[in-house]
Amino acid sequence: MPDDNNLPLLPLTSGVLLPGMVFTMALESEEAVAAVEAAEAADGSLVIVPFIDGRYASVGVIAEVAERGELPGGMAAVAIRGVSRARLGTAVPGTGRALWVEVDLVSDEAAGDPTVAVELAREYRAVVENILVSRGAGRLAERLPDAADPGRVADLAGYSPDLSLDQKVAVLETVDVVDRLRLVLGWAREVLADITLRERIKTDVEEGMEQTQREFLLRRQLEAIRRELGEEGEDEAGPDDYRTRAAALDLPEGVATAVSREIGKLERTPEQSPEHGWIRTWLDTVLELPWGVESEDRIDLDEAARILDEDHDGLGDVKERILEHLAVRKLQVERGLAPVGGRGAGAILALVGPPGVGKTSLGESVARSLGRSFVRVALGGVRDEAEIRGHRRTYVGAQPGRLVRALREAGSMNPVVLLDEVDKLGSDFRGDPASALLEVLDPAQNHTFRDHYLEVELDLSKVLFLATANVLDTVPGPLLDRMEVIRLDGYTEDEKVAIARNHLVARQRARAALADGDVAVTDAALHTVVGEYTREAGVRGLERELGRLMRKVAGKVAGGEHPDDGPLVIDGPDVRTWLGRPRFVFESADRTSVPGVATGLAVTGAGGDVLSVEVSMMEGTEGLTITGQLGDVMRESAEIALSYVRSHADALGIDPAAFAAKRLHVHVPAGAVPKDGPSAGVTMTTALVSLLTDRAVSPSVGMTGEVTLQGRVLPIGGVRQKVLAAHRSGLTTVVLPARNGPDLDDVPEAVREAMTFVLAAHVDEVLDAALGVDGAPAAAPDAAPTRAA
Ligand code: ADP
Repeated sequence: MPDDNNLPLLPLTSGVLLPGMVFTMALESEEAVAAVEAAEAADGSLVIVPFIDGRYASVGVIAEVAERGELPGGMAAVAIRGVSRARLGTAVPGTGRALWVEVDLVSDEAAGDPTVAVELAREYRAVVENILVSRGAGRLAERLPDAADPGRVADLAGYSPDLSLDQKVAVLETVDVVDRLRLVLGWAREVLADITLRERIKTDVEEGMEQTQREFLLRRQLEAIRRELGEEGEDEAGPDDYRTRAAALDLPEGVATAVSREIGKLERTPEQSPEHGWIRTWLDTVLELPWGVESEDRIDLDEAARILDEDHDGLGDVKERILEHLAVRKLQVERGLAPVGGRGAGAILALVGPPGVGKTSLGESVARSLGRSFVRVALGGVRDEAEIRGHRRTYVGAQPGRLVRALREAGSMNPVVLLDEVDKLGSDFRGDPASALLEVLDPAQNHTFRDHYLEVELDLSKVLFLATANVLDTVPGPLLDRMEVIRLDGYTEDEKVAIARNHLVARQRARAALADGDVAVTDAALHTVVGEYTREAGVRGLERELGRLMRKVAGKVAGGEHPDDGPLVIDGPDVRTWLGRPRFVFESADRTSVPGVATGLAVTGAGGDVLSVEVSMMEGTEGLTITGQLGDVMRESAEIALSYVRSHADALGIDPAAFAAKRLHVHVPAGAVPKDGPSAGVTMTTALVSLLTDRAVSPSVGMTGEVTLQGRVLPIGGVRQKVLAAHRSGLTTVVLPARNGPDLDDVPEAVREAMTFVLAAHVDEVLDAALGVDGAPAAAPDAAPTRAA
């Protein structure tokens, strides 16, 4: 009988067995067969030792043969279960052909405080769980061993597909449990960081998010490539370099202390440790911040007014409000009430309006007029609080929040920071970015802002914050409370032409490498571009079209087709030859040529817009079908419209029998865009009456207003944007609720003069205007197959 401490040895070349694992292996080699046979002849135990690259590991695992069987190919195989680590002694004589060795059992007990091991085990378990979940194997997480058995938890690493054989051997050979846990935790964190990054990149691309994160990944990849090429460390800064850099900066006391503490840590951390890189990244981040750098403010209101005028056409009232805001600041400074932009400086200016109306560029002008640098922080789609406040450093791939990054980009501690698209902030399980933002904007708190990553106090009180939003509905309430809202509703055709003439043409000309004398665009041409090639509240599309035009001109000029005498002139009729077929034609004429279709006015995130409401009728169960992704309020409007029409059928000249056994269908294209609100009430009523009385709606009329069951017309919002949209779409008559009359003062005069307004208190007045004069009966009854019988 062999001695208890002597066991047959089975060298394992294809894997690493750790205690707790069950491993199936084919009995291919003679040694393997011999070892298993010897074990079975004794008590079934043997010692498994990794034999990799011609080297035996210094530690093996005592294992039991759990089962013998055959692999599908007929090859003999065994399932072995790892039981415990063992150190190997010398070879000893034993039975059979197997190699017998002396073994010394090693227990899993940790040296020192056992709670440390349990704590580490808990953390490792959590990281593994995260990895499993992110790989869609969350079910396995339930089967992980309990942290109370830290050794078992650490040995889970044996199952990891991310570790190499060498790494697994290292796990086996690290006998101390705490050391072993530290080792596997470090690797698992790296794996998780990689997964997280990859996911982030994926969502980034999907959500069109910011450049910075992509850069972060690219940098990491670059680092990895450098490491592969052995270039690492060539130009790495050492602790002394950091000391020199820190000494040259005007660091606040708390920051200086934190920096020297980290430099000390850097010295003590081995270069191979991942921690080394993290400390360096932190030091680089902190030392790159513009500590103590401030641009000197100049608040000269006349100069500010001049700069705002220089950069922007029109927008008189907006500029006035901005200047008032600056004037208050100036007084605060002069009277020593607060430092510029500092505590107590009052509300944040919020520029609210559709895309392309100049919100961002106004922000830039404000910065220019104050002599400050300007940074834009895009908040659209931000759902993770850490985006604002930074990741904690313990999180792999951690980086500071966007405000810290903004300061770094600005190069000064008092820039103008434009918080872009605050209405698109989200929130989910990762915390509420809006509340973090609130802290940033709160003058009582923001002079000691703590970014989770930096962990030092940062004074944001000198920053001048501006915000932008497309709509106000989705701006979180508490944030809205801190804002002074300035609305920009969009431009009229004439305003757009002026903006193009005074700003956009020159900019696009320069971008196409053309000189002043190369090309001239007449106002008539600009009107054509605005009217036939764009339909928008702002001027983004216009600028894009002008860019296209200029590139075409550049092509001609480069090809030598250039008049020698003076610039190439582009006039109204030429636009089509340059830009091709117009993209927008006035279509409401076609749209309302059959009874049952009416044109409404709406406000969306992109500004005002026109929408049609279509109604048809068919045999079927009596009632209403509603389509077009309408919200509850809008669906109710349709029900109210139908009730009104039914209950007033006589007065409206409709045969009440027309409704019998008929189903009405109300549809609002475009079906893919969600719509809601009560203001389509008049449009739905009109479309119904039009269908049931077989009279087409006048193609030049657009309408908006809520309707009650009694037919009263109630006021609605967004008059200015709706009227501008009607004007853009070529409508000439707008029907509005009587009580919205005063809002017409906000409509630019040129537009007011070009249009007819009908102020209706009752829906009858709407119907008169819409179905009156040119609302003649449809010419050909065949053209309206859906009308009432
Ligand atoms: P927003 O931030 O509102 O989406 P931008 O500030 O990006 O809009 O404006 C789009 C473009 O239109 C910019 O190039 C801007 O300079 C120009 N622009 C907008 N409004 C005006 C204006 N009133 N005068 C001159 N240029 C303008």
